[in-house]
Amino acid sequence: MTARLILASVLCVLLLHSAAVSYAKQCSRIITAEMRANVLENVKNFPWAANEQNSAISAAAAYVEKNDDELWEMVTSQELPRDIHTNKEAGCPNCGKGITPYGNYPWQVGGDWKLKCPNCGAIYPKNDFWAFYKSGLDEHGYFHRELGDQSLLFNAEHPDPNDPLHKVYVDDGYGLLDEKGVKHRFIAYYNSWIHWGNIRRTFAALARAYTLTSDPKYAHKAAVLLDRIADVYPDMDFKPLSRMGFEHSHGGSGRGRILGCIWEAGLAQSMAEAYDNIWDGIQNDTELATFCSAKAKQYNLGDKSSPQAICTHIEERLISEILTSCTDGRVAPNPGGTQVTVIIAAVALDRKEETLKWLDFLFDQNFPGELNAGGEKPVQWILVEGIDRDGMGGECGGYGLGWTRRATNFPDLFALYPDYHGHNLVAEFPKLKQCFYIEPRLMCLDSAFPNIGDSGGTGTWGRLGSAATFAKGYRLFKDPYMAALAWRYAEESVERLRTADDIFKKEPLALANEIAAVAKAEPFKLKCDHLGRYGQAYVQTERPEEGRALWIHYGYSKGHSHADNLNIGLYAKNIDMLPELGYPEYTGAWPKRHAWTASTISHNTLLVNDHKANYSAGGKINLFAVQPPLRVMDVTSSRAYNDMKTYRRTVALLDVSDTDSYVFDVFRARGGKNHRLSYHGPAQTATVSGIQLVKQATGTFASPDVEFATLDGELADFYKTSGFTYLYDVERTPAPADNYYTVDWECEDLRGRIKEGKEPHLRLHAMTPCDEVATAAGDPPQNRSGAPRRLRYLLQSRLGDNVESQFVTVLEPYDTTPFIKQVRTLKVEHDADPNSVAAVAVDLTDGTTDILISCEERAKVKVEGGVEFDGQFGMVRLINGQVKLMRMSNATLLSFGDTKLVSEKAAYEGTVTGIDASDAANNLVTLDPPLPQDAALVGRTIHFQNDVPIDTTYDIKQVTPQGISTGDITVIWGFKDPADYDAGYKYLVNPGDRYVVPCHVGLDR
Ligand SMILES: [Zn+2]
Ligand SMILES: [Zn+2]
Repeated sequence: MTARLILASVLCVLLLHSAAVSYAKQCSRIITAEMRANVLENVKNFPWAANEQNSAISAAAAYVEKNDDELWEMVTSQELPRDIHTNKEAGCPNCGKGITPYGNYPWQVGGDWKLKCPNCGAIYPKNDFWAFYKSGLDEHGYFHRELGDQSLLFNAEHPDPNDPLHKVYVDDGYGLLDEKGVKHRFIAYYNSWIHWGNIRRTFAALARAYTLTSDPKYAHKAAVLLDRIADVYPDMDFKPLSRMGFEHSHGGSGRGRILGCIWEAGLAQSMAEAYDNIWDGIQNDTELATFCSAKAKQYNLGDKSSPQAICTHIEERLISEILTSCTDGRVAPNPGGTQVTVIIAAVALDRKEETLKWLDFLFDQNFPGELNAGGEKPVQWILVEGIDRDGMGGECGGYGLGWTRRATNFPDLFALYPDYHGHNLVAEFPKLKQCFYIEPRLMCLDSAFPNIGDSGGTGTWGRLGSAATFAKGYRLFKDPYMAALAWRYAEESVERLRTADDIFKKEPLALANEIAAVAKAEPFKLKCDHLGRYGQAYVQTERPEEGRALWIHYGYSKGHSHADNLNIGLYAKNIDMLPELGYPEYTGAWPKRHAWTASTISHNTLLVNDHKANYSAGGKINLFAVQPPLRVMDVTSSRAYNDMKTYRRTVALLDVSDTDSYVFDVFRARGGKNHRLSYHGPAQTATVSGIQLVKQATGTFASPDVEFATLDGELADFYKTSGFTYLYDVERTPAPADNYYTVDWECEDLRGRIKEGKEPHLRLHAMTPCDEVATAAGDPPQNRSGAPRRLRYLLQSRLGDNVESQFVTVLEPYDTTPFIKQVRTLKVEHDADPNSVAAVAVDLTDGTTDILISCEERAKVKVEGGVEFDGQFGMVRLINGQVKLMRMSNATLLSFGDTKLVSEKAAYEGTVTGIDASDAANNLVTLDPPLPQDAALVGRTIHFQNDVPIDTTYDIKQVTPQGISTGDITVIWGFKDPADYDAGYKYLVNPGDRYVVPCHVGLDR
């Protein structure tokens, strides 16, 4: 008999048996009997499948050897607290802040119910906690501190009751006091991280081993644990612990069950999934019934007389409790996570009527219920409004990707329940497809994800995206581009395209082979891109090797943002040259997070009014021109500060060779007091040339009298403070600086990014007259490995009321020897606002001179040295005085001597007359006048000018006789009425909007 036949007959017996007791759940649903039978076949045929099975067996080996009593006793109950910190303010009782560099959750296991400091090696607590725990169990085997034997609570290193340390460092579950009387919550930390971590690993490894072997011994052991968890779970509630000061992942709500409500979701999913996975394996397990019913009798725990009674127990007291918790805020993870939890738990519960009710509820406008504090919304809100048109979630960094990654799982999760026919997500929600594309689009140089907001560590690089995700996307959408992505990420190997669930398939390599056949190997070229609501536009070189990339940020209303409008970043020489500080030491109300890490002054942007900018205020791209060697982005953030006339930045990346580029940066601002432009390079020290700085002996950037990290006022004000007291070791100019100077950072690197023989630098050329120039030290978060100790900041201040500024800067990332000889400001004649036109000459060491002209709006300008220009951005490259090339954008004229570049039009402009989003693959915008039927406009950007606070720049995918198509990037913004999804959509582009398609013209010799 083949394995499949055996299993099929087991299944029939089960069905009969179930019918006899009128029991609802029919079979394992997530990994079915058929899938387990496929595994056994695949193991015979494929070495990789045998390897996967073997690793699952090894991973479960230690757990399956444990006896049932041992597993049963592992499960701790409500009154043994859980905590994710011991005391993050005090650190280690022995070495204090010495533990900080070891991360947010630094403690290591130092024995049973003991934690060890990774820095000094000290071990806490000093008592035998498990002995005390066992003395404190009630009739159900649940721990209560007051029942415990107090005589067991003493410091084992100081057993003499007269020893002053006899009762010090002793933890009864609720924390210990150190010699200074400061409380540390070691047992609660151990219980949360180590003990419940072990419980979770144990049932998960056992359940997986069962799905890969069909051997019921694994199902039995997992069931012992799950049954015992079902005993304690109804009492599990984090709120009482939160009230007592225990900390967990609940976003401030205090809610949760075993863990805080955010992380409870992952644990809940793994418990529900494990239950479903082992269900088939325990239906005839009389030994399980014998064990559990004996325990039930001894501890007064209800009916466990049969496997079915045990299943009912688990379903009623664990699975149903999880589902209820999704509506009462005790399971309230980051967006999308509640839905995932509901689907897995409802499928595991597998009572048709109830399960379908829960799956439908995910689309109900009342989901998940008003008690859910996580701000969670129904599935269609996530896919229509929460996710942006580019497929990114509504938060920064990994938080936003969490939405996206959970959304990419939705279609397969709903498919777990074949009786569910409510929605076809792939057909109904156009943004879902973009969730599969977004990760490569978020990266610069195919290797670095800008650390925008609470994201990453200072100076980190890291690649996003996975072949498995693209393969899944291809399976769902059959888009050849997704196949191409999968093929590239798998390095053109069918083996590497294998996904985690292939082992359960009848033809495990079918998808990989199909992708290999569809994907055409094309030479890979980096693209410049812009992401509207996420607010990340970047330009970069075409090749990642020795590549350079420049990004600017203008996100709108995103969670975990910093006050960082128009912040810029630069990757060059394999280094993050303007390292964004990234994830704070801790989130929540951690003062340094708000006063410094997330504040404006710590970013490479402009601080006004000595006050943090508005949070995630959004911006609009005015120009996005890619004409190598020149690439220009111009972005306005009119909501960055209230009542400012201008807050706008033009940045350009200019290649001078295959390996070097520089950045031209013009920041224009009008209104408000005290404009302070902040930059920081990748080193603790910087060499300043061309101006004299005087060391300030004491204090901080705030003043010589104000100490480090003091706040402007009351504690609550750390949300508003300037951040000046986090800038220390200050040097300032004694008088206004109106001459050209440079600042040079020799890159420091704790991440092994500087290759042998290289000496990368960033040199900044400052061209702006200022009332004061200062440098100072600022600290990145210190609990990330590889984080620099401090970075050197440059602060250029233009002081006074109603200030108007045009800051002009050139950034030169170079290796060992600079390639720029000098940067000169050129005189300009024009009729426009004096702060709206900037022209510089960049003289390179090889005899090349670049003349760059940036106008805020199109202007007619005569530039010193014989250049005439009429437009927004122009560039002339001269080699030994001869024109080598010219570039101009949104312009009609650029001339130098006899060489003249002209364009009939600066831009195509007009009005939007209609939109049509009915075909998700072909979003149409009709224009008056329409664009010329000229293929050269495909791939160019079109800017829609309107009041939408999100950037509304699109790439033209197709020029139609009536207008354009934005392809599969939707023009839908979200729901028209958030209270009534049936009222239809609101759009990012609307009839009446102005449109602009700037022309880019070039000349090469
Ligand atoms: Zn220590
Ligand atoms: Zn930041």
